[in-house]
Amino acid sequence: MATNGYESGLKMIEELTTNAEQIQDEVLREILSRNAGTECLRGFLSQTDKQLFKKNVPIVTYEDLRPYIDKIVNGETSDILLAEPITGFFLSSGTSGGQPKLMPVTAQVAKKWELFRCLSESPVIKHFHDINQASKRMELMFARPEIETPSGLKAASVSTSKYNGSKFRTLLPKLYTSPIETIFCPNPNHGLYCQLLFGLIQRDEVVKVGSLFASTVLRGIKFLENHWQELCYDIKTGRLSDWITDSGFRNSASLIMKPNPEQADLIENICNCKSWERIIRKLWPEARYICCICTGIIRQYTTELEFYCRGLPLVSAVYACSEAICGINLEPLCKRSDVSYTFLPNMAYFEFLPVKNEPDGSIEMKSNDEDTELVDLVNVKAGQCYELVVTTCAGLYRYKVGDVLMVSGFYNNAPQFQFVERKNVILSVDQEKTSETDLFKAVTEAKALLDPLGFILTEYTSYVDTSSAPGHYVLFWELKEKEDKHCKELDPKIMVECCFRMEESLHYTYKIYRKRNIIAALEIRVVKQGSFEALMEYCVSKGTSLSQYKKPSCIKSEEALKILDSRVIGKYFSPKSPL
Ligand code: AMP
Repeated sequence: MATNGYESGLKMIEELTTNAEQIQDEVLREILSRNAGTECLRGFLSQTDKQLFKKNVPIVTYEDLRPYIDKIVNGETSDILLAEPITGFFLSSGTSGGQPKLMPVTAQVAKKWELFRCLSESPVIKHFHDINQASKRMELMFARPEIETPSGLKAASVSTSKYNGSKFRTLLPKLYTSPIETIFCPNPNHGLYCQLLFGLIQRDEVVKVGSLFASTVLRGIKFLENHWQELCYDIKTGRLSDWITDSGFRNSASLIMKPNPEQADLIENICNCKSWERIIRKLWPEARYICCICTGIIRQYTTELEFYCRGLPLVSAVYACSEAICGINLEPLCKRSDVSYTFLPNMAYFEFLPVKNEPDGSIEMKSNDEDTELVDLVNVKAGQCYELVVTTCAGLYRYKVGDVLMVSGFYNNAPQFQFVERKNVILSVDQEKTSETDLFKAVTEAKALLDPLGFILTEYTSYVDTSSAPGHYVLFWELKEKEDKHCKELDPKIMVECCFRMEESLHYTYKIYRKRNIIAALEIRVVKQGSFEALMEYCVSKGTSLSQYKKPSCIKSEEALKILDSRVIGKYFSPKSPL
């Protein structure tokens, strides 16, 4: 979007938010009139009436949708689910029963994403006026491999689909510092090295630094901390390091690189300083802001990131998912804790399942959805938490996304939401989402290896260790000898194999992230017998009723962590990557 184009974007946002109710009704009417005859909806709807829709169409999860998606994936025509032809699938970072979720994509979906990207940039451009002929964005971008389904339709993540789009590819050389080859590089370290190198070479033109998520920006800085000398050497000599063998990279590099000892010295001086506080500002002196999502699970990285970014605002611009496009942040300069996303009523039909905010800050989901009335977009109440339910032009009808949001206010007639939490996710280092069921399945696979050794797993729990980057999953295991003789030794080789088996049994997104070193190796910490008893005693001492005590699947409190950590008798990692 050109700098002056943002005004038409802002105007459209005004119109959309002012007429939110009417637009929502139109969106629903259009979806129903097109799709009421599909196999999926036929049994529930004879007409396209909103009240009948609300009364008859059940609230569903991916599990309910899976039979339809599976059939389409295997070659059946997509009109069983939706009238518009499917052009492919989005591959969500979430899983269902351990399998990646596939969301249908259509021409209309692609158009909506294009519009959304323009609209979401409008408030940002208004504040920063960052796009002009000479300015560039240094965005760290990584495509995930596409999957070809038996039907021949491809499945790719939302961001990979964007990087594959012709519009993006045309704009890339003009607007971004990274060449396309570095985004599609199968080796993420090679890609990251080159994206940083190209970003540093063009450092005086860079007005925006970012990535989709804050975790990736942080990973980029950490990588830079380990590689700046080599990067400076490449800039000084005008030659790309030999270990980068990809011919596409080398070609792109040869077009832009020439020996530049002055620039290399400048960067070297900056990186050589004692503290890396404000390093982004120093390395990219024209940068006006850092753009990356900082809310939700990614919050865990933002304190550290702020240290490196100091002096530049962190802008969390969008809230969207593979299932539906939702909202944009109209106040890019607001405090991190105040980030709210204003929902755009033309993107999907939104409904909200009320959830109770407990006094201790936790969220209680209503157990019986059928008994709970869903609230329309314009009728949500400020301060109340809801689970998001979407109906889209891509075959999702009253679909629970799994995100819990809190209404923070209204812009015109459209509500603004803060992201509260992801439902049912217990472990997440980056964008992967591992549920209790995912973990249970992986533990079950791994613990089978202990059987021949005469050990059984009596207790386990988990947590995400982000004390070093990249973060990793930690499993605490309490083991017992089958015959209580206390004479057997644990075989470290088998324990390492258990780590590998667990990683192998986790879901696709975990394995991709692991392979790309976005997640470090999973660790099993074996604790002494009685450790989980001590954990329970601690929880009871803190007020948990003994009869209601449930061992946590994931440790959240520092104290609880200390109890287990102080009883560790062995730590194991697998050196192999699971893919
Ligand atoms: P995916 O389907 O893989 O694109 O992941 C979408 C999920 O990422 C959403 O359902 C949210 O749980 C999370 N997400 C996306 N945008 C945000 C945001 N701005 N803040 C917090 N979480 C987000």
